Amino acid sequence: MKVKVIAEDCISCGLCVNNVPEVFSWDDDEKAEAITDEVAVDKEAATEDALNSCPTDAIEKV
Ligand code: SF4
Repeated sequence: MKVKVIAEDCISCGLCVNNVPEVFSWDDDEKAEAITDEVAVDKEAATEDALNSCPTDAIEKV
């Protein structure tokens, strides 16, 4: 599973970064970004939750 954040849609709410810091972090513009090339299997459920909970649908599977 791979994910990306559409930076222009991110409102920096922090949900994904706070809930799955192994997968999401802040970029230099304080937008979330995916920091893993491949999501670890044990983080897939949490990543899926973040994807579904993002208020602006800024997280996509790639
Ligand atoms: S949950 Fe969505 S809006 Fe919030 S920081 Fe993550 S990508 Fe940005």
